[in-house]
Amino acid sequence: MPLYNGKDISPDEAILLGLCPECASTVIPKTALKHARGHWNPERLDPSSEARRRYDLLAEFGRTKGGISKSVVQHPPVAASPSATDAQRHPILSRDNYYDLAALPFAFEAAAAFMHGDLARAILSSLIVIGIIYIVHNPENQFTTGFKKLMRSPLGAFGLLVFLLGYIAAPSILAKAGPILSSPIAEIAQPIPTQIRWQFVGGRQTPTVLYESNIAAWYTLWSPSVEMQGLDVKGNIVTRTSAGSYWTIFLTFKHPVTYQQLTLVSPNVSSYEVKQTNTGSAVIVVNQDIPAGVVEISTVP
Ligand SMILES: [Zn+2]
Repeated sequence: MPLYNGKDISPDEAILLGLCPECASTVIPKTALKHARGHWNPERLDPSSEARRRYDLLAEFGRTKGGISKSVVQHPPVAASPSATDAQRHPILSRDNYYDLAALPFAFEAAAAFMHGDLARAILSSLIVIGIIYIVHNPENQFTTGFKKLMRSPLGAFGLLVFLLGYIAAPSILAKAGPILSSPIAEIAQPIPTQIRWQFVGGRQTPTVLYESNIAAWYTLWSPSVEMQGLDVKGNIVTRTSAGSYWTIFLTFKHPVTYQQLTLVSPNVSSYEVKQTNTGSAVIVVNQDIPAGVVEISTVP
């Protein structure tokens, strides 16, 4: 850009002011062409180049004896520095951009849904984003006008309201209904043969399973013997309670089972209690140490 009085001016402004579009020095029609040849060799100028255009501006200035018409000037002069009106003409956000912001919450929702693995909601939210941006940028489009017309009708507006409420409420509704919908249909308890047999090895060691039928999981827990003493303020023993060591056996069944009774059979066990049973699990307490030997628990249908 040529400099004129310390300001950038366009080549077109320069020639209109009688200045060289290249160096901004004052030119007169008589010497304009010579001045241009001082800058460029016209035979070597690319016809489509800016240099060629400037050369032609100088040549035209000379040919018309300084009366270069504004029609020759391709680019109308523009203000050298942006003015306040420019800022108003080019705001940071256009009106369309403000409407586009309406799509932003849906874009965030799409990203969040995608991260939570909710692909359906991610796609739906993305479609809403695309829809909003499309409508904003194609206001005269047939689809857009059709949509606006529909929204102006009571049924359309009601439909949009219901859709938006559903869209907002869907995550919490699905969170409540999800476990119900995804849980398998409850199995009906049946008199299935259910049994487990272990080899106990003595002491507090966990037994080895020999056979099991309809057992999903089992766990045995040995508890040591305890003695409790009640003392008076002087430290004298007034009561003494003791409990022997015992085993607790937890069973979970694969399929729900109906039974009259649960029995524990072992040549070395004389005392046990079935603490808690239902169609899915059982807890049995053996009130003694279990010596090495086989222990079998089975349902009696
Ligand atoms: Zn010049």
